[in-house]
Amino acid sequence: MSILIKNSTILTKNNSRQRLHGDLYIEDHQIVELSKKPLTIEADYKIDGTEKLVLPGLLNTHTHIPMTLFRGYADDMLLKDWLTQRIWPAEAKLDKKFIQCGTELGLLEMIASGTTSYLDMYFFEDIIAKVSEKVGIRGFLGFALIGFDTPEYKAAELIPQCEQFVKRWKGNSLISPVVAPHSAYSCNPETLQKSLEVAMKYDVPLHTHCSETRDEVYDIEKRYGVRPVEHLKKIGLLRKGTILAHCGWITKNEILEMKNAGVVVSHCPVSNMKIASGGYAPIPELLDAYVPVGLGTDGAASNNTLDMFETMKFCALIHKNHRWDPTVLPAQTVVDLATKGGATCLGIQHTLGSLDEGKTADLIIIDLKKPHLTPLHDPISHLVYAVRGTDVCTTIINGKPVMLNLDFLTIDYEKTIEQAQRYAQELIS
Ligand SMILES: [Zn+2]
Repeated sequence: MSILIKNSTILTKNNSRQRLHGDLYIEDHQIVELSKKPLTIEADYKIDGTEKLVLPGLLNTHTHIPMTLFRGYADDMLLKDWLTQRIWPAEAKLDKKFIQCGTELGLLEMIASGTTSYLDMYFFEDIIAKVSEKVGIRGFLGFALIGFDTPEYKAAELIPQCEQFVKRWKGNSLISPVVAPHSAYSCNPETLQKSLEVAMKYDVPLHTHCSETRDEVYDIEKRYGVRPVEHLKKIGLLRKGTILAHCGWITKNEILEMKNAGVVVSHCPVSNMKIASGGYAPIPELLDAYVPVGLGTDGAASNNTLDMFETMKFCALIHKNHRWDPTVLPAQTVVDLATKGGATCLGIQHTLGSLDEGKTADLIIIDLKKPHLTPLHDPISHLVYAVRGTDVCTTIINGKPVMLNLDFLTIDYEKTIEQAQRYAQELIS
């Protein structure tokens, strides 16, 4: 398959942050040519890029995709009540059809708002993998593990199931398996240790929540006598290939430990603010220490969207406001986090996160001809402070258009929306 994008402004996000006005040609999975001069090549798809902006697809480094069915179901609640009164009782009813439907809805939203890769953590991850592969999105899919039995899961059975999941999907061109122990507070040291063994045996990433709330830090200190990062270090989880979500309550010493170990951080500012966890990852200090950082939306139950443009804006604003300093996290840095930063977190920065000849063709096109995007002085500023997810008009993943001029090519828009509304009502009834 080949795609030619004509006469567009292209933000490459490559090492020299090159911007150019011209054409971009894709063949099979790769970007073959970037040119300031008009290209006269025949292509299966020819896209008019006039008054449009081309940039790398965004990478969402933390979500729980089936939870899109819980969007708006439980707002303005204390975290404990939110979990025990609403989310856990509803999750107990989840089965294959709900997971499939919630995943389709989440993927539809992500593709529509410019996300081309996502890192998930949930149960039923095999179903999520099949739907993601069919829709054509790049999924880093975390098989969730917990350390206690529930009516639905026996903890001891999860590790072998996780290993099977990893074996099934490793080597797939779009789906990368990830081992995802939920957290240090929901997994005992033995479960964390076994998770690590699977991740190391198959050389796949490990993803876990870490220091999301102050209560979590107190809880881990009470149980194990150390803070969460130190606890993970003792078990061996603090290593290259580990992706920690949140890190809202970490110290300077913990940042140093993280840097030395080579772990990376997924920052989820909207979810942190909505749950009112009070703390959020100290991004300027993490970046100063060269700890790679990506951005995540978290699940739609605590956000309530999967719109990475909204997450970029919140990321910029929350840190400026907190430090009384508008120079903190300038727009360029925030766009880096959502593109190259996310790719680095997922270990795919050599092929994704920027646009260059020879790189994998995951990219999005934004329609700039909108009142809220006029005038245009600096596209980088617009991406963080003015663009909305709904301004994305075309999404290309692995060299294939999945949304082309607002038409979805791999997923039934009407059916997905109708089914999600019906199933969500059934789920909470
Ligand atoms: Zn989460």
